[in-house]
Amino acid sequence: MNPRRRSKPIQIGRVTVGGDAPIVVQSMTKTDTRDIKSTIAQIKELEDCGGELVRVAVPDMKAAEAISPIKQGVSTPIIADIHFDYRLALMALVAGADGLRLNPGNISEPEQVTKIVQAAKERKVPIRIGVNAGSLPKSKKPKLSIAEQMVEAALEQVRLLESLDFDLIKVSLKAFDVPTTIEAYQSIARKIAYPLHIGVTEAGPPRTGIIRSTVGIGTLLYQGIGDTIRVSLTAHPREEVIAGYEILKSLNLRQHGPVLVSCPSCGRAEVDIIKLAEAVEKELLKITKPIKVAVMGCVVNGPGEAKDADIGIACGKGRAVLFKKGKKLRTIEEKDFITALMAEVERF
Ligand code: SF4
Repeated sequence: MNPRRRSKPIQIGRVTVGGDAPIVVQSMTKTDTRDIKSTIAQIKELEDCGGELVRVAVPDMKAAEAISPIKQGVSTPIIADIHFDYRLALMALVAGADGLRLNPGNISEPEQVTKIVQAAKERKVPIRIGVNAGSLPKSKKPKLSIAEQMVEAALEQVRLLESLDFDLIKVSLKAFDVPTTIEAYQSIARKIAYPLHIGVTEAGPPRTGIIRSTVGIGTLLYQGIGDTIRVSLTAHPREEVIAGYEILKSLNLRQHGPVLVSCPSCGRAEVDIIKLAEAVEKELLKITKPIKVAVMGCVVNGPGEAKDADIGIACGKGRAVLFKKGKKLRTIEEKDFITALMAEVERF
């Protein structure tokens, strides 16, 4: 695994992005931002599962104004997602947005960008230059690949912001196509020192979207690229945050709650491991501290295969061995599998 790329840290509200700060997990609300009560409720749900930054859509002035009361009800920094109308960005800043996301394909007039940058600079609010493959500004070099056109669009905007003496910049280059996404980020990572927000856009519903996102985000993180991530899913945003942490945990980049090790089951298993693992997974949602828990289908291989687990069970017919760090603690009856395992997890 490559060491993490050195990026220039920026501050989005209370959250540091880039530099040595942990890779940040973010999401986006799916409520109507003008519906303040529902938006606050959804952000609180994200806070409960570890969401660290949240973006809200700002389609009109009412949505921009709503950022102010929304901020009163939550502790997560709010990033305003702006398209087409620069005045929405100005209003979002007045309403207290902690960050802005601008798409260079949708706001490209230098005078309008200048007005936004001046207002952001006064408030020390960072701007994400969020390029999407689907809404690229017209390229001056149409022969470039899509990935290179994305990089070109971002660099043009970066240069404009720098010319205005503004460097609170974060960049994202998202495409649905995973190789395009990876190539674009690899290219820009060599060209600028600003933090990168990474993700695969419109990745789809959870079953396929998590895989696409994991391949894209995981590949980049493994190469040391990425300071904040979002898993874009056609699902409740809670699923995006959970998937984001799972990606980071699988690369040992963050610790966040439990890790469940469970065997795939095979002809040797004498209990329904799939059902048992699902039940344990549900119970573990209540645990916030890092712990590795194993659910193994047989006593023959179970404890050995999961010996780096903190707590686990290896099941036999009607009974299971409860083990800690690969060492047997005691034998438990099938009716007690979940309660005994969870009691040991709590104790640990
Ligand atoms: Fe099969 Fe046992 Fe391995 Fe599970 S732990 S896959 S039941 S051998």
